[in-house]
Amino acid sequence: MRRIAVIGAGTMGNGIAHVFAQNGFKVHLIDVSQDALNKGIDTISSNLDRMLAKEKISVAEKETTLSNITSFTELEEGVLTTDLVVEAATENEALKLKIFKQLDEYCDANTILATNTSSISITKIAAATKRPEKVIGMHFMNPVPIMALVEIIRGYSTSDTTTQSIMDLSEKLGKIPTEVNDYPGFVANRILMPMINEAIETVHHGVAGVQEIDRVMKLGMAHPMGPLQLADFIGLDVCLSILNVMYNGFKNSKYAPSPLLVNMVTAGKMGVKSGEGFYDYTNSRKAEKISAQFEKNYK
Ligand code: NAD
Repeated sequence: MRRIAVIGAGTMGNGIAHVFAQNGFKVHLIDVSQDALNKGIDTISSNLDRMLAKEKISVAEKETTLSNITSFTELEEGVLTTDLVVEAATENEALKLKIFKQLDEYCDANTILATNTSSISITKIAAATKRPEKVIGMHFMNPVPIMALVEIIRGYSTSDTTTQSIMDLSEKLGKIPTEVNDYPGFVANRILMPMINEAIETVHHGVAGVQEIDRVMKLGMAHPMGPLQLADFIGLDVCLSILNVMYNGFKNSKYAPSPLLVNMVTAGKMGVKSGEGFYDYTNSRKAEKISAQFEKNYK
């Protein structure tokens, strides 16, 4: 595999493009929004600058990484001649089903179609194509250039060959792939999201303030980041979508999203990406400080 298409240039898509490009792959970064593509490339460039400042990469490596990425706004043009597609568009089932139907039409019969979905059924996404054995979950963690784990999710029909190629490829990216089966939220979010939701309910019920709740979890449970700050970092809209997928998938009220989360998303408070969530990020240095904190805690 040499040429990879990444669909979506948002929080995850630009990180996934960065990691592939830095490891020598040619990346086609595709988004419906030119503005999202511009922002995505700017983010990759400033993340590379941080690595450069720490002498983790050279100027030449930064330039090669950026030159390995080409942007597209047209899906058909962007996925042409690619060996693998990693879809990282908005967490919305109808949208993903539509994209995979189109991918099946536009891509070569041998192209593997992976999705970075946090929670949506891989089996259902695969069923939108005529190649379900070549559809797989490749769930990178945020921030992608820093986090080692890739959760590899086998759909009902995913073949051993597809799974092995994606496990091997993840290792080539310097990641640690871990294979899991296809149930709502998989493993990572099935465990993480109920904790985040409970932290939001704890604010909602006035048990403690935002900073106090995060401090309890950081200092008391040795979490590198409090659950409310992590929710801001993931995106509150993404957290809400994941909880809804688990709530509908398991028909169990323990996954019902907190009304406070629903209200915040409805009001446009999405966390870091919108400038406000449980914390205020209108000063962009604060968002940078969170990324730096992540890096320090995980490296
Ligand atoms: P985001 O909102 O930051 O970015 C989504 C991008 O997709 C936007 O730029 C949007 O313009 C683009 N998009 C929407 N429709 C498109 C289409 N038809 N074609 C091309 N691009 C399109 O979202 P995100 O947080 O990067 O999440 C992307 C995926 O990654 C979701 O499935 C999410 O569940 C998953 N994920 C998110 C996180 C996280 O921490 N945010 C972690 C792991 C996985």
